Amino acid sequence: MRILSIETIPVAVPLTKPFKTALRTVTTAYAIYVKVTCEDGRTGWGEAPPTHVITGDSLGSITYAIEEVIAPLLKGQDLRNREEMFCLLKRSIVRNTSAKAAVDMAIHDLLGQFSGMPLYQLLGGYRSEIETDFTVSVNDAAEMADDAERYFADGFNVLKVKVGIGEITDDIERIRAIRERIGSGPKIRLDANQGWKPQEAVFAIGQMEDAGLDIELIEQPVPTDDIDGLQYVTNHTITPIMADESVFSAKDALRVLERRAADLINIKLMKSGGIHEALKINALAETYGVECMVGSMIETKLGITAAAHFAASQPNITRFDFDAPLMLAEDIVVGGIVYAGKVIRMPEGPGLGLDQAGMGLIGKGAGQ
Ligand code: MG
Repeated sequence: MRILSIETIPVAVPLTKPFKTALRTVTTAYAIYVKVTCEDGRTGWGEAPPTHVITGDSLGSITYAIEEVIAPLLKGQDLRNREEMFCLLKRSIVRNTSAKAAVDMAIHDLLGQFSGMPLYQLLGGYRSEIETDFTVSVNDAAEMADDAERYFADGFNVLKVKVGIGEITDDIERIRAIRERIGSGPKIRLDANQGWKPQEAVFAIGQMEDAGLDIELIEQPVPTDDIDGLQYVTNHTITPIMADESVFSAKDALRVLERRAADLINIKLMKSGGIHEALKINALAETYGVECMVGSMIETKLGITAAAHFAASQPNITRFDFDAPLMLAEDIVVGGIVYAGKVIRMPEGPGLGLDQAGMGLIGKGAGQ
């Protein structure tokens, strides 16, 4: 069960519609796939997208970290001593959480394969099916209402709306337009992606509460490092506040949880550096009575399959933001999770449940 080789494969898949947030606009999903091969020929797969505005990671830095730093350290390591491998991975290089996440996913894929169990069952097995929300990108109010109406008609009854661009009154107008168009049935959660100042956030959220816009939760209203500001917003609003960019690691989570600076935490493998650390964040949150969502960057179905296995396995993870593969013009991943509208079914094959032969063709002309 020793690791023989670790390879990187760049992929690029266009989006059907530009994805716009307070931080960036994305038209193509770029990623580095990682393929870990064991001595017996089994392969494990992972993915790292370059989300430099959030993680600082680029295609170049991910490739360098995996090929030049992580691969030489992990080659020859035995999967039966996995904690040793995760220690080596964590200490291999500071930050670079996306590269670490891709390798961590591939190791977990292999652990599942060796155990003969789907990864979500190996990790806890809590759910075999989960439901995703769908994201409405930031645009003018009319276009956002059109998009929200279409996604709701497609069966998505939880819409995640991106705000935090321009004037705060524009954000309120956007939400009002969406709520008027789709009615009171669907849930609306907001993501400001650090776009507000604390006082602005309290004002905006208060206005939305007074207008009866019925917002389920608001993600990351203030900048990453402003934990005082995050706590201020949480203490001065009724609507639940979720920490996203403020929590990368278990240590970050503890800082937020000890002060109750947020009501909820959004875990992403690209921030935590993989499932090993994500499990710790979730365990801490559960200890403090805080539920988690698992979300993603703009990733293909490979990264989302790994995240979904982790998310489905734990009872404290109650919200799922896994719409990224549905925004892509093409699905290059063979096997993995299966979408039926908003429902995601976990694969029953071992590990991530990928098709080994089909995945083996990636990098040989497919997905480039
Ligand atoms: Mg977010």
